[in-house]
Amino acid sequence: MPQQQIRDRGRVRHHVHVTGVVQGVGFRPWVYRRVRELGLGGEVRNDVHGLSIQIEGSGESCGDFLRLLKESPPALARIRGFEQREMPARGSDEFRIVASDSAMDSEARAGIMPDLATCPECLRELLDPDDRRYRYPFLNCTQCGPRFTIIDRLPYDRVNTAMRSFPLCRDCRREYEAAGDRRFHAQPVACPRCGPRLTLRDGGGRSLAEGDEALLHTETSIRNGGIAAIKGIGGFHLVCDARCARAVQTLRERKRRPDKPLAILCRDLAQAEELAWISVAERALLTSPAAPIVLLKKKEGDGVAPGVAPGIPILGIMLPGHPLHHLLARDLGFPVVATSGNRSEEPICIDGDEAVRSLAGIADLFLVHDRPIRRAVDDSVYRVIRGEPVCIRNARGCAPLTIDLPPGRDSVFATGGRQKNATALARSGEVILGPHLGSLDHPMTYERFEKQVDDFAGLYGVEPDRFARDLHPDDEAARFADARTEHAVSTQHHHAHVVSCMAEHGLDGEVLGVAWDGTGYGTDGTIWGGEFLVSTRSDFTRHAHLHPFRLPGGEAAVREPARSALGVLHASGLPLSLVPDIAESDREVFRQMLDKSVNCPVTTSAGRLFDAVAALLGIHEPQSFEGAAAMRLEGMIEAHDLRLA
Ligand SMILES: [Zn+2]
Ligand SMILES: [Zn+2]
Repeated sequence: MPQQQIRDRGRVRHHVHVTGVVQGVGFRPWVYRRVRELGLGGEVRNDVHGLSIQIEGSGESCGDFLRLLKESPPALARIRGFEQREMPARGSDEFRIVASDSAMDSEARAGIMPDLATCPECLRELLDPDDRRYRYPFLNCTQCGPRFTIIDRLPYDRVNTAMRSFPLCRDCRREYEAAGDRRFHAQPVACPRCGPRLTLRDGGGRSLAEGDEALLHTETSIRNGGIAAIKGIGGFHLVCDARCARAVQTLRERKRRPDKPLAILCRDLAQAEELAWISVAERALLTSPAAPIVLLKKKEGDGVAPGVAPGIPILGIMLPGHPLHHLLARDLGFPVVATSGNRSEEPICIDGDEAVRSLAGIADLFLVHDRPIRRAVDDSVYRVIRGEPVCIRNARGCAPLTIDLPPGRDSVFATGGRQKNATALARSGEVILGPHLGSLDHPMTYERFEKQVDDFAGLYGVEPDRFARDLHPDDEAARFADARTEHAVSTQHHHAHVVSCMAEHGLDGEVLGVAWDGTGYGTDGTIWGGEFLVSTRSDFTRHAHLHPFRLPGGEAAVREPARSALGVLHASGLPLSLVPDIAESDREVFRQMLDKSVNCPVTTSAGRLFDAVAALLGIHEPQSFEGAAAMRLEGMIEAHDLRLA
C-alpha cells in the first residue's frame, strides 16, 4: 500500500458552511485557533453568504471541532444556518485563512473586520524578554490587532491603511511575505524598528519621554494618584488607580461626570474575579476577541473606590484589548479606571493634539503614539441576561457589525436617532452597523456623525439609493437625511427598534414587537416608549401601550424622576403627596401644570415609568444622566436579591 494511503487511513475532510452573524466577529481567528489546538488541516474563508470552513484530520478531532462549533462558537457570533458535508481527504495538515473573494460583485463585498484583541501568541511574545517585540505595544498578527480603526479603503492592504506611513523593516517584511508565518499578510504588522512609537507629553504638549520610558513614567504617575490620557485603538482613555478614592474623585470633578459609572480595566480574569462574580458566559465575553466592557455583579470588599460606580452593585469590567493595555495592567498590578477620553457629552478624542487641547485640565499626562486612528471607536458594552450576551453598546471589537437581510433590496442609509446615535448601511443581503457615536446634541459629535456617513458609504463603495430617518420633526439626524435627499423614508422610532430586532433574529412576516424605551416620537405626536406593535418589516399597528401620563416640564423629567412620579400619580388619580421630599410650593406648581396641561407632554415611556417607581421608592433627587434612577432602582432590587440568597 502506498505510504500516502496508509497515512490517510482514518482521515476525513468536512466542508461546513455557516451563515448568520459570522463575519466581523472574530470567527476566522476562532476557527484558526481551534483547528491548531486539535491539529487539523484545511482552510477557512469568508464568502458573500457567510463563512466556509474545510477541516481535515482524524474523525475524532473533526468531531470535536464540529461539536465546539455548534456548542460554543465565538461569543459574538450568531449562527443561523449550518450545512455540513463530507468530502475526500487531501492528506494535508496545512491550515490556511483564505482571503475573502471580493471579485464576486462590483461592490466591495468583502467584510471589514472589527479590531481584535491581542491573541495568546502575540501576548507571549510581548512578555518574552528574548523576543524582538518584547514590550512592543503595537505588535499584532493575522489573528489580532487593529482593523476597522486603521482602514482607509478596501481592499484591506497595508497601502490602504494608516500603516502605509511605516515602511516595513527587513525582518517584518520577511514575516509578511512568508506563507507559513502567522504574520503572512498581517497588514498592521510592526516592530520597534519600523513601527509606531509611544511619546509622553505634558499638559502643554511638550515631549517628556519616548518608547518604554514614556510608558514607565505614565505608570509612576498613575501609582501616585495621577490621571493619564492614553491613546489606544479607537481613541483616548482617561486612566487612574481604581482603588484610590481621591484619584477617582478628582477624575469625576475634572471630567464633570458626577456619578455615571466608570469602566475598569483588569490585568486578567483572575484579577477581574477578585472584583466581581463572573459566569461562564461572561468569561467568554471578557476573553473574546472583541474584549468588550462586561457589566458584572460586584463582590463585597472588592477594594475598588466606591466612587467608581456609586450606588449600584454592578461594575463594568474589561480585559486588555491591545498590547499597550496589557503592559499597563501587568506593570501596575492593580485595577485601573479606563473611561472614554472626552469631556462630558463630547465625543472621544482620537488625535494627540486634539486630546492635549480638549483634555487639558483633566489629564496630568498624555501617553500618545503616532499610529493614526482613522475613525473613533469607543469601548463596546455587553451584559449577560438570562445566560445570553446582550449588546448594549456596539463599538470597538464589534463594529462594523454585519447582519443578514433578505437579498435584492435597494441600498439604504439609516441616520439613526438623536440620542446614542449609530448609523447603518443596508444593501442587498445585509445591513452593516456603524459604531456607537453618542448624543448628536453636542456639535462635535454631530460633526463626527456627518463624517461617518460619508466615510461609511465610501468604505463600502455604496451610493445609497435612499435615506431612512426618524419620524421626529426636529431631530438632527433626520434633518441631515432630508438635506441629502428629497424622499427620506420616515420611520417611527419604536417600529425601527422592532424591525431591527426582527433582522437580528432572522424573523419575517408579522410579529408582536414590544419596544420599551426612553423616548421616541409617536405617529400621534406624543412621546412613545412603552409600545406593543403588531409589525411587519414595512408597517405596524399600535396594538397596545402603557397607560399615558403627563411629564411636567417635558425634557426636564429625564433627569428629575420626581416629575415622572407626579405625572403617573396624576394620571392614576392618586395624591401627589405620595412623592416624598418635595416642597409644598413646588408640588402646587406641578399640580397646576398637570391640571391645566401646561408644558406637560403626554407620554407612554417605559423609561419614565421606571423613573416614577424609583422616585416613589425614595430615589427622587435630580440625576446626572438619563436612566440613572432606573439603574439605582435595579441596584436596590439586586441588593435585596443578594440578601435573600
Ligand atoms: Zn496576534
Ligand atoms: Zn519591523
